[in-house]
Amino acid sequence: MAFIVKKKISGKEYYYLQKSIREGDKVKSKVVAYLGKDLQEAEKKAEQIKMQESPKQIEKKQETINEPTEITIEELANFCKRKGFIYPSGEIYGGLGGFWDFGHLGSELVNNLKKAWHNYHIQQRDDIVAIDGSIITNPKVWEASGHVSGFVDIAVECKKCHHKSKVDKHELDTAKCDKCGSEYENKGEFNPMFTTQIGPIKEDSTKAYLRPETAQLIFTNFKLVQENARLQLPFGIAQIGKAFRNEITPRNFIFRVREFEQMELEFFVEPGMDDKWHKYWVESRYNWWIDQGIDKNRLELYDVQKNELSHYSKATVDIMYNFPHGKEELEGIANRTDFDLGSHTKNQEDFNISSKVMKNNNSTTKLAVQNFENKNWFIPYVIEPSAGVERGVLALLNEAYNVDEKNSRTVLALKPHLSPIKAAVIPLKRNNKQLVGQAKIIKSDLQKIGLGRVMLENSGNIGKNYRRHDEIGTPLCITVDFETLEDQSVTVRDRDTMKQQRLGPEELIKYYQQYFE
Ligand SMILES: [Zn+2]
Repeated sequence: MAFIVKKKISGKEYYYLQKSIREGDKVKSKVVAYLGKDLQEAEKKAEQIKMQESPKQIEKKQETINEPTEITIEELANFCKRKGFIYPSGEIYGGLGGFWDFGHLGSELVNNLKKAWHNYHIQQRDDIVAIDGSIITNPKVWEASGHVSGFVDIAVECKKCHHKSKVDKHELDTAKCDKCGSEYENKGEFNPMFTTQIGPIKEDSTKAYLRPETAQLIFTNFKLVQENARLQLPFGIAQIGKAFRNEITPRNFIFRVREFEQMELEFFVEPGMDDKWHKYWVESRYNWWIDQGIDKNRLELYDVQKNELSHYSKATVDIMYNFPHGKEELEGIANRTDFDLGSHTKNQEDFNISSKVMKNNNSTTKLAVQNFENKNWFIPYVIEPSAGVERGVLALLNEAYNVDEKNSRTVLALKPHLSPIKAAVIPLKRNNKQLVGQAKIIKSDLQKIGLGRVMLENSGNIGKNYRRHDEIGTPLCITVDFETLEDQSVTVRDRDTMKQQRLGPEELIKYYQQYFE
């Protein structure tokens, strides 16, 4: 969208038409035209230029949708259930703590979010590839990664109110009950990895784990991927997938759950370049969430303090978000140094590994790369941006939820690329053969463009349909009326501005494509 800017050059004011253009990671402003020295003249000229460029420019969000409406986490959970976004898992049997099912709209939203992540990090770049590792893998992976011995919490129970929780080892003496402030009783060590067994006979079977994170599959596949994809440092391997943690107290709707999905990226760099790349990824990830529709006023970067850092982490920055239940971590970006590849490598003593790794006698492969100049082999450092899909969905729903009292409606102002349904096509009269027939043709034309779901709403009441689609975040409603039968033009209504415009058949296709660009 073009906009007018005023520039002062040696004390005099000049007006220019500028445009925001995306170049790789950055959004840059570029001058499109010089508009003269007078604001009124400039506005006129700008209009003319915009008209020439595109006859029906899309007007993005304005006036009606401003701040999201405050909502509690319980209200949001109710809304999600009522509208088909998220249900308690196995609800007809009473549900199960920490497990959730995504409904017909929720699964579209989740897929759209993952698609946006995959597109931005893999398809739009040359230096990152994706893998899809298995959920259950060789249990030696979790021994070498430190999860079997080190991924341990202390289970505790309040002596007074019997609230159950978990604490870190070093917090045991000082921790007090979250609920009533009384002392905790130590219930013993507890590993949050879910276990299962491979093989049918219990005595012969191997104990295995459901992965507690996706990252380790990236490390164990490091050498194969690097060689097959012919990658040179710096480069990344990314993965979206399910992970499982047996949380003692799952809570706050889909915020803390036992089965979740991660969007993880391991970006491998030369030692010494790690600080620079850590900073790069913190900025990049922060801006990505803003691009998904999160207001930066509800985001905050938190430098994890030295005494809170995991032993392998040189630095971690958490992207914090004001969730309905409080400010908590949306994503963490950690500098994990050479700990991961160092832990999984064969012949550790051949390398100058800087982090404290456990001895590994099981690995068959050196996870190292060669320096071109001095021919020395070394273990790369890794920067890890790790985001939770469920937390992202929770933040985005919270951002989008808006009660528009002035127009007595609820609007889910999701960014169009995330909306579960892209457009609803509504015949003016229900079951009118000609109108419905025409609406079906338009729906199928839009569907073929392949941007997402398009729905036919054959229920007659236009106003009700608008409200219903506002509430589930459908950006465009397209009404087919008797005029359509003559000239194929339709009325297109924008969810956020509620503005309506009449478009011809070709204009509609063009408008629809541009809208979701
Ligand atoms: Zn208590």
